[in-house]
Amino acid sequence: MTTLLIKNAHLLATLDDTRREIPDGGMFIRDNVIEQVGPTADLPETADSVYDMAGHVVLPGLINTHHHMYQSLTRAVPAAQDAELFGWLKTLYPLWARLTPEMIRISTLTAMTELLLSGCTTSSDHLYVFPNGCRLDDSIEAATEIGMRFHACRGSMSVGESKGGLPPDSLVENEPDILADTQRLIEDYHDADRHAMLRIAAAPCSPFSVSQGLMRDTGELARTYGVGLHTHLAENTNDLAYSREKFGMTPAEYVENLGWVGTDVWHAHCVQLDQPGIDLFARTGTGVAHCPCSNMRLASGIAPIRKMIDAGVTVGLGVDGCASNDGAHMLGEARQAMLLQRVGFGPAALSARQALELATRGGASVLGRDDIGSLAVGKSADFIAFNLNEVEFAGAHSDPLAAMVFCAPAKVDYSFINGKLIVENGRITRMDIPAILRRHNELAADLLRGEAA
Ligand code: ZN
Repeated sequence: MTTLLIKNAHLLATLDDTRREIPDGGMFIRDNVIEQVGPTADLPETADSVYDMAGHVVLPGLINTHHHMYQSLTRAVPAAQDAELFGWLKTLYPLWARLTPEMIRISTLTAMTELLLSGCTTSSDHLYVFPNGCRLDDSIEAATEIGMRFHACRGSMSVGESKGGLPPDSLVENEPDILADTQRLIEDYHDADRHAMLRIAAAPCSPFSVSQGLMRDTGELARTYGVGLHTHLAENTNDLAYSREKFGMTPAEYVENLGWVGTDVWHAHCVQLDQPGIDLFARTGTGVAHCPCSNMRLASGIAPIRKMIDAGVTVGLGVDGCASNDGAHMLGEARQAMLLQRVGFGPAALSARQALELATRGGASVLGRDDIGSLAVGKSADFIAFNLNEVEFAGAHSDPLAAMVFCAPAKVDYSFINGKLIVENGRITRMDIPAILRRHNELAADLLRGEAA
């Protein structure tokens, strides 16, 4: 048993059920679990490790509910800079067809580095291309190495161009193989216990790349094992038109028909979710991963998040893939969520505190977890600290918590995950990050030149 004392935080924002904000706050942690939260004066005076957080804002670790980490190899690709979703995908599929297992592992480490420094402590990743021997195991290995809490989504594509789908035939898999591999991953890796560092979810890619049969079979498999179900939905008007034309249904009708609603399901984007869809999601507890940067980058539109929250839909945030965000800054995503709702629905559409709630409590609910997303007794010890004396926050100390979202996205000074120190003084201490980035850039260049596979 080891103990950890966090003390003297300028402000400790718990995001707990009463949204307690504690000046001169701290926490006492035993192993990986929070045992006490409160003013420093009320906590034990010492522990095995003690961190003085004077001048810092301490928050629960941010939770990213949607990502494609491999895409950090194909950021800002010139030919895909100015296209909407379908054109963007068709430009990038041939590049992704050259991915190798090393590229998956290294790009996952790179994406996680960026996420960790931006305040994220739990991330999902949706990997749906498996060329050249790539496996979800490659991402899982990276998460374990770097120490991030991870929800690995076994994605899939089974309907290629010759069958009316969007991806090239070379990039789709056979449906029995997809189901067998999903089952293998759940059996090998999924940890259903409280404070789990690794969970698996089943995640066919999108309505325009998998069959309805695979959606149904994947859903059945996931529910047999009690793992989450994840996919893309209603991302833009072309996605909506595809659903109407191919299935004769709105995206919401499509997922309801397939049984893809419920508290174990979360859908990315939902920009074009209509009012009956919002009501359906609220009624069934179906989650939404809102990805504002990607939605702006691809001109997909403004997801009606204010309406969803008002209706009682569970909403979290996602940075989405690095090729449609070109960044993976979780605090930045919370800021963009606040700004974009205001563009769509007025200046009071989303407050800074509400944006932080989406990035913490919201994300935890979307991923089906009650052990993360807030700082309270019995929760996992996942927390971050930002230094108020950095230039980003100069002049904003009148409301240090709101400053986290109103000011330009800063990097964390400290990050702890499951009670372990991951970022110290703004650096990830357990890995040689410059070496990873050098290799990442070599591999990215190989991918663009077509030499890798
Ligand atoms: Zn996505």
